[in-house]
Amino acid sequence: METFVIIKPDAIRRGLIGNIIKRFEQKGLTILRIELRLKSRAWCALHYSSPDLNSQIYHRLKEVMTRQPLIGIVLEGEKAVTVLRRMIGATDSTQAWPGTIRGDFGTLPVHENLIHASDSEDIVEQEAKYFFDPRTDC
Ligand code: UDP
Ligand code: MG
Repeated sequence: METFVIIKPDAIRRGLIGNIIKRFEQKGLTILRIELRLKSRAWCALHYSSPDLNSQIYHRLKEVMTRQPLIGIVLEGEKAVTVLRRMIGATDSTQAWPGTIRGDFGTLPVHENLIHASDSEDIVEQEAKYFFDPRTDC
């Protein structure tokens, strides 16, 4: 099974790329694709199209996710979607368990929570397609 992950700008700025990728390797996940891309606001609207996000959160997120490059990664492994969600930890880093990426490295504010991982199998392919589509680059 595959899943889709984004290392967000705050993680890159803080020098956490190696730490995060190391965890994927230690867990036995295979990196199928990895690219640094500067994405557009149009991409952000596609990626965060969930109606759960209120407009204030989305507005902040859009700024953060389009100002600096992101690292998009397709990972393969058994139950990869579930495994990744458990490895990243709770959305709010202050609530995330130690041992998770957000729990070990995350600080406030909540929108700068280091990493994205697809939350269900149904959206993995679409999220990866949007991210790697050059028409959604900045
Ligand atoms: N987010 C936020 N405040 C919130 C909820 C979400 O800033 O109260 C941001 C945060 O960056 C999060 C993203 O919106 O990663 C997407 O929200 P989601 O609920 O999908 O969280 P995730 O799946 O990333 O844990
Ligand atoms: Mg989500």
